Amino acid sequence: MMTVVAATGNAHKLKELKEIMEKFGMHVISQKEAGLGDVDVVEDGETFEENSFKKANEIMKLSGKIAVADDSGLEVDYLGGAPGVYSARYAGEHKNDLDNNNKLLKELEGVPAEKRTAHFTSVVTMVYPDGKVLHARGECPGQILFEPRGTGGFGYDPLFLPDGLEETFAQCSQETKNTVSHRARALEKLEKMLEEG
Ligand code: IMP
Repeated sequence: MMTVVAATGNAHKLKELKEIMEKFGMHVISQKEAGLGDVDVVEDGETFEENSFKKANEIMKLSGKIAVADDSGLEVDYLGGAPGVYSARYAGEHKNDLDNNNKLLKELEGVPAEKRTAHFTSVVTMVYPDGKVLHARGECPGQILFEPRGTGGFGYDPLFLPDGLEETFAQCSQETKNTVSHRARALEKLEKMLEEG
């Protein structure tokens, strides 16, 4: 079984990466399990691809093992694609998920349901010690609700109603999220690339 280090300090992302990749027969270990402490990678790229590569490459170099990173975000059509790559720090550098959700609701105040379309994007990057790099992008379309629903998940999950589901990502099971999410779709593509060699 292929062992891969997940280049993330986000416990929710780690859980999702583990659960999805294990279905594909890949064993995912945390940075800590790879003998690394907290690693602060500066995410100053302008694209999901750049940031995703930076994270995976840094952890590959530090661990000497194959590393996988996810850089992701929410792109809201009415806001011209914002918060996009800035999703984690939309409300400011030291703010949290709740602050980000509140800022999003404020930005969309008075915007009717039909104009609240959005999608999550995930770019997954796998970097090998021999320098090989694979990128895969996944998207999940949906809409931004008028108030949060549910207590599960992380980030913008309580405000995001995925197309085709009647529950937000914060209400549905992890299993359901892992079948339709942007991260699941990116990882499915990555898995196909690995199969094709
Ligand atoms: P980054 O990839 O570490 O830059 O952070 C991605 C940010 O995008 C997270 O902190 C969340 O705010 C948001 N995000 C990405 N994926 C998800 C998801 O699956 N659910 C909810 N929010 C997400």
